[in-house]
Amino acid sequence: MQIISTANELASYLNTVKNNGNIGFVPTMGALHEGHLNLIRTSKQNDDTTICSVFVNKIQFTNEDDFIKYPRNIEQDIKLLEQVGCDCVFIPTQEVVFPIDYKYEIFNLGKIEHILEGLYRPGHFQGVCNVVNRFIELIQPNKLYLGIKDLQQCKVIEKMIHLKKYEPAVELIFCATSRNEKGLALSSRNKRLSNDAKNKALILIEMLKSAKEQILSKSSNLDTIKQFCITTILTNGFESVDYFEFADQHFELVNDSSTNQNPVYILTAATIEGVRLIDNIIIGYETNS
Ligand code: AMP
Repeated sequence: MQIISTANELASYLNTVKNNGNIGFVPTMGALHEGHLNLIRTSKQNDDTTICSVFVNKIQFTNEDDFIKYPRNIEQDIKLLEQVGCDCVFIPTQEVVFPIDYKYEIFNLGKIEHILEGLYRPGHFQGVCNVVNRFIELIQPNKLYLGIKDLQQCKVIEKMIHLKKYEPAVELIFCATSRNEKGLALSSRNKRLSNDAKNKALILIEMLKSAKEQILSKSSNLDTIKQFCITTILTNGFESVDYFEFADQHFELVNDSSTNQNPVYILTAATIEGVRLIDNIIIGYETNS
């Protein structure tokens, strides 16, 4: 596996591989787990060259403490990437990704930027779009792999790709959420949880599934389901619930007074042991999400 940290090294590497066929790209912030590795494996199946980036993107953090505490373990990451046969890992410094004179873009993302994660993390999605856009410029991948664990991020990047007119040169591939054997969505942030909190955190997926069942069986209205799920999460060890919401196919929030009451996505964010976790489920989607 090639280990690259500068833009020049990256450009020479790309020169050697671009005639071999498709390049698949998996952006990450490291502290890799099976969820990330599954994205790499999917790219390995589809593409001739798989490149993974490991970069903790400061501008997408709205909380300094969260950025400082974000788990980092680059040696272990390199080992895992080698084991799954990743062809190249790009581990740039801040200056390589965003040089001092870099002109950050402001993306016109519309309403999606300000709801759910965007409401609780103002500026987060502009930070995400800037870094992904920058990596697309540097790597020029044919395929970009994202996990639906971060469903809103998938939708936001889809919008950015559309705004930048990157399609069809860059194809987006959304991959299912990887979970542990009990159902907890894998996340780098789980490393900061005690075993007790990891067990308690299962209530998130349990409530997402319960909400989905109640919607499918039409047994309760949305506001009642939401109140039940939030209360149950809070009584099962979570300190706070930022949101437990429903969104339609256009990613607009849905409640009992909406004109459109056909939720397609159920999304939640909640904090346990000071660690903020997110998860979601898709109605009418039968795999592990
Ligand atoms: P991160 O390192 O958290 O920025 O994530 C990098 C990529 O891995 C993003 O596309 C995430 O959505 C994806 N990812 C993170 N956790 C999971 C998971 N449990 N299952 C599937 N994809 C994931």
